[in-house]
Amino acid sequence: MLRDKLIERFTVVPGSKVRLKDFPTGFDEADEDLRRLTKNKAKEVAADVLEQNRAELATAQEMLYADDRYSVLVVLQAMDAAGKDGTIKHVFSGVNPQGCQVFSFKKPSAEELDHNFLWRYMKSLPERGRIGIFNRSYYEDVLVVKVHPELLDSGNLPDERRGRKFWNDRYDDLNNFEKHLHRNGTTVIKFFLNVSKAQQRKRFLKRLDEDDKHWKFSAADLAERAHWDAYQQAYEDAIEATSTEHSPWYVVPADDKWVTRTMVADIIVRRIHTLGLRYPTLPPDALAKLEEARAKLEAE
Ligand code: AMP
Ligand code: MG
Repeated sequence: MLRDKLIERFTVVPGSKVRLKDFPTGFDEADEDLRRLTKNKAKEVAADVLEQNRAELATAQEMLYADDRYSVLVVLQAMDAAGKDGTIKHVFSGVNPQGCQVFSFKKPSAEELDHNFLWRYMKSLPERGRIGIFNRSYYEDVLVVKVHPELLDSGNLPDERRGRKFWNDRYDDLNNFEKHLHRNGTTVIKFFLNVSKAQQRKRFLKRLDEDDKHWKFSAADLAERAHWDAYQQAYEDAIEATSTEHSPWYVVPADDKWVTRTMVADIIVRRIHTLGLRYPTLPPDALAKLEEARAKLEAE
């Protein structure tokens, strides 16, 4: 496991003012101990921790399934090319595919826009015993939609419901939604993968340079990059308004993919460990039935 202090550094304290500039994007700024190591050595240490956490996550997921009371919702938000997809692939590669479900949210469909904005997310929530991964989430509705409020025009929302307090009301909706999930046994773990503008440029250029990465490039991503500052502001506002005791935000450095993956895995394992999961124990009459079954099988 990583040190508690390191995780605390990246946890948004509920009620605190959020400035993304205060959160490091790179490995060398992230931690004193890491800074003392060469990059290669730090990478090696991180790879070991990730490997341990992957194994722990597989076990934790089995426990979650056997216990069958809790579910876990992992929310991944980030600017383009921050590494959401790679993080999902690397962190969950050891987990039983039956135990986790990934949902990626794109622009809402006409059917989705005909419902309240939480409807499509509600439908995709993990069942008890499962880990749900949201690759983008209901936070898009206070991020991309806040940066491009004209998106609301396609939604047939009554004009009189688009008043001055609209965004604060949406944060309220999200807080209430997550409070509801918490009360019902769903643990929500929210990550913002914090990539720098310079690193995003590098990754976009790489997508243009390498033939097998061309498919990843979208001109729309470049258009969104032009709104970088507005997005950072929207993220700051959303994270500040919705980091709570039960569902805090983690602002994870994303300029080095190995740092992101190791930290995300570590935080998920930690959070599942706090649930106090146990294998169900059977009542005496059920145990007696097991003994009867044993006797029958042995007598064959
Ligand atoms: P990607 O994750 O690269 O496939 O891109 C999905 C796109 O869908 C992104 O540009 C998101 O901003 C956009 N998107 C996701 N959720 C919403 C939403 N609720 N409203 C508008 N656009 C969204
Ligand atoms: Mg994209």
